[in-house]
Amino acid sequence: MLDTRPRRTFAVISHPDAGKSTTTEALALHARAINEAGAVHGKGDRKATVSDWMAMEKARGISITSAALQFDYRGHVINLVDTPGHSDFSEDTYRVLSAVDSAVMMIDAGKGLEPQTLKLFRVCALRGIPVITVINKWDRPGLSPLELMDNIQDQIKIRPTPLTWPVGEAGDFRGVLDRRSGEFIKYTRTAGGATIAPETRMSSEQVGEDDRLVWEAAFEEHQLLDLEEANHDQATFLAGETTPVMFASALQNFGIAQLLELLLELAPAPSPTPGVDGTLRNPEDEFSAFVFKVQSGMNSAHRDRLAYARIVSGEFERGMVVTHAETGRPFATKFAQTVFGRETTSVEHAYPGDIIGLVNANSLRVGDTIFTGDKIEFPKVPSFAPEHFMTASAGDISRFKQFRKGIEQLDQEGVVQVLRSDLRGDQNPVLAAVGPLQFEVVEDRMLNEFNSPIRLARLDYKVARVTDAAGAEALKGARGCEVLQRRDGTHVVLFADQWRANATARDNPDVRLDALPAGGV
Ligand code: GDP
Repeated sequence: MLDTRPRRTFAVISHPDAGKSTTTEALALHARAINEAGAVHGKGDRKATVSDWMAMEKARGISITSAALQFDYRGHVINLVDTPGHSDFSEDTYRVLSAVDSAVMMIDAGKGLEPQTLKLFRVCALRGIPVITVINKWDRPGLSPLELMDNIQDQIKIRPTPLTWPVGEAGDFRGVLDRRSGEFIKYTRTAGGATIAPETRMSSEQVGEDDRLVWEAAFEEHQLLDLEEANHDQATFLAGETTPVMFASALQNFGIAQLLELLLELAPAPSPTPGVDGTLRNPEDEFSAFVFKVQSGMNSAHRDRLAYARIVSGEFERGMVVTHAETGRPFATKFAQTVFGRETTSVEHAYPGDIIGLVNANSLRVGDTIFTGDKIEFPKVPSFAPEHFMTASAGDISRFKQFRKGIEQLDQEGVVQVLRSDLRGDQNPVLAAVGPLQFEVVEDRMLNEFNSPIRLARLDYKVARVTDAAGAEALKGARGCEVLQRRDGTHVVLFADQWRANATARDNPDVRLDALPAGGV
């Protein structure tokens, strides 16, 4: 039977420690997927459970791929897509964000905007993803809300439109003023946030004596915001020009119910997606999906490769045969699993907005399209300009086979970009990364997963440009640059610095040298 429940597919993003995991868990709690947050984050070793969604899956009732958490809320299906947990911004995040329709940005009230906050906002802007902003940890002393709003406006160049406004300052949090209804949502502190925090709504007249002064102060600021027209507007929100803001304490579960309501009310549902040729695929059209993440090594017994795809249109039925757009070959999904956990269960059907994990997906790469019916190919997720380069070689030459296999795998997963040239050969590929932490991931996985220690040596390049075959030919052997090739055939030219790149472009006016979008780590 066709599942017509509306979908909300989003990611929670933040600078590390702003409360991404706590919020994820709290969202699931409020959706009553799990009844006690303590089941997940009450353990002594909190960090161990961060993004450990298996614990939540066990806790009942929710489907988890290691890529997405799915639960029901008021007749809607919520798909919360996981973004990479590590602190360095990498291309991973960018790719994963291609699978969502909106994002929830957590900001630590005490710290305000942090480096990762800015980068992630920029990625969302690049991808046209609308952002709901949550100022978190309001139970602790923090910056003034007006100051935070100014910072968002000035540094991110996106207009904050608060939907709630804090009553009582950070650290002496009494609740929030719901700016649309004018009501006071009173906050009740609970022990460790282990149960759903009661949020009592009351009208302005009902605000108690204790809260009266702070309520009035909040009300004045609310009126000030009105004067500045800092009010929610759905069109500018969807266009990424404004961001609705709310105040919360994820640890205390305050604001989480409001956030879920906002997601249902404001966050966009899956929408028509253009293919490379400009044709639109509507959600109700025949099946189509694109791969946004490829993962291997989850099962040490046999090296199975799982490709995570986001459904763009149509109904997915396990067992259906789809076409792989890049090769034109059929791909049988009978091995597909929609749910992945410690025990694999498969869900028979999935719909636009949902994430499916395709097993045995050795032919599928990040960015690939699968479909039935009319051909569609979705645009590749553009890769960022790498700014860090290393040569790689096998640390133990007797394990060269494993080395080659590992590099190949990490390349396909997009952990780093692998650049090759005849000159360097298979023994010494160049690894290119947006953030240096990507190299640590490579070192670790090569050693532990592929059993081949890797030696990395820094290369003195800082700038990469893309050229065509003629350009590659023309620049071969040229001074001050090196020409290499990516797995997808793209010719990449590396330079020591911007100055060299510009000089080469000037000296070779006929050669195409295109810049890649800046990831900026
Ligand atoms: P992540 O790195 O963004 O996933 O952040 P976590 O969810 O792991 O939270 C980092 C730390 O901040 C943890 O110790 C949380 O308990 C704490 N934390 C998260 N939300 C709140 C909050 O609303 N109030 C307070 N006081 N602490 C919080």
